[in-house]
Amino acid sequence: MSLTLKYFKSGRCCSVPQCKSKYTSQISLFLFPSDKRLQKKWAQALRIGKKITKYMYVCNSHFVKSDFTLSIPDIPVQRRRLKKGVIPSQNQLSPI
Ligand SMILES: [Zn+2]
Repeated sequence: MSLTLKYFKSGRCCSVPQCKSKYTSQISLFLFPSDKRLQKKWAQALRIGKKITKYMYVCNSHFVKSDFTLSIPDIPVQRRRLKKGVIPSQNQLSPI
């Protein structure tokens, strides 16, 4: 019996516990902010107990519509950008 870990080819998925979002056309993944203080706030808001690395992502379901710079309904989810300094407020899966 071999211990095979499941690795996903894309390697990109949401780092929030309980969140199983992987990179698809419906999901947008955001890197943690480079600002350490903001990074800490994100980790607290999302209850991530481990160290934040620059390889960790958070998916769009942890943000509310007003966190994005564009709120035009037609804009594809992947084209959305976060406003500066926003903190994710949604720690459960909810469709945007
Ligand atoms: Zn997520």
